[in-house]
Amino acid sequence: MGTLSIVATPIGNLEDITLRALRTLREADAILCEDTRVTSKLLAKYEISKPLIRCDEKMEEKAAKRAIEMLEEGKKLALVSDAGTPGISDPGARLVARIRRFAPDARIEAIPGPSALTAALSVAGLKHGEFVFKGFLPHKKGRQTAMREVLNSKVPVVLYESPHRVEKLLQELGEREVSVGRELTKLHEEFIHGRGVDNFLDLKRRDAVRGEFVVIVHPA
Ligand code: SAM
Repeated sequence: MGTLSIVATPIGNLEDITLRALRTLREADAILCEDTRVTSKLLAKYEISKPLIRCDEKMEEKAAKRAIEMLEEGKKLALVSDAGTPGISDPGARLVARIRRFAPDARIEAIPGPSALTAALSVAGLKHGEFVFKGFLPHKKGRQTAMREVLNSKVPVVLYESPHRVEKLLQELGEREVSVGRELTKLHEEFIHGRGVDNFLDLKRRDAVRGEFVVIVHPA
C-alpha cells in the first residue's frame, strides 16, 4: 500500500511552505489538488513538475477512485488544497474519509503548515486559549440557528467568509465586537477590530470589501 501525504500549502505568500512539504511534493508520483491553475503556480515557483489530479467537489468521487488504485499499486500521493491545510473547510476532508474507508491499509500522513485559522489566531491576541472554529456558516438553511450559536458562544468563534458574503456577515454581527483578518500573508494584509457594523463600514469606505477574510466573533 502507498502513502497519501496531506500537504499544507501557503494561504497567499508563496514563501510560506515547509521544507518537508516541498520534499514531499517532489517525491510524490502525483498530486491531488482543487484548482490545477492554483497548484501549478505554486509548483512552478519551486520548479516541481508532477501529474495533477483534479479533486474539487465535482471530481471528488472519480479522483478518490483513481487515488485508491494508485495507493493499491504502492504509489506516493500528495493532497493539497488551493490554500492552507487540506481538510480545513475545503473538499480535502471528504477525500481523506473515502480513502480511510475504501483503502484502510494506506498510510495517511500529515505535512502540517499554514492555515488561515491559525494565522488569524496568531495575530488576534486572544486572552484565553479557547476558541471555537465554525468555518463557513450555512448560506440559507440553518443559518439563523448557526448565527444564534455564534452569538451565544462563551468563547471566541472563528469564521471563514468569502468576499461577496462578508458584507452580509458583518452586518448581521451588528453591535458585536469582532476582529477581521483580511488578506493574511498577502500585500494588503490587515487585521482590524471593532463592532461588526463599524468594521463593515470601515472596509466599505476604503473600498476593501474584497480578498479573503477570517472573522473572529468575540463573546458578548
Ligand atoms: N484550507 C484553508 C485553510 O487551511 O485555511 C481554508 C480553505 S477555505 C475554502 C477558504 C477560506 O479561508 C477563505 O474564504 C477565507 O475565509 C479563508 N482564507 C484563506 N486564505 C486567507 C487569507 N490569506 N487571509 C484571510 N482568510 C483566508
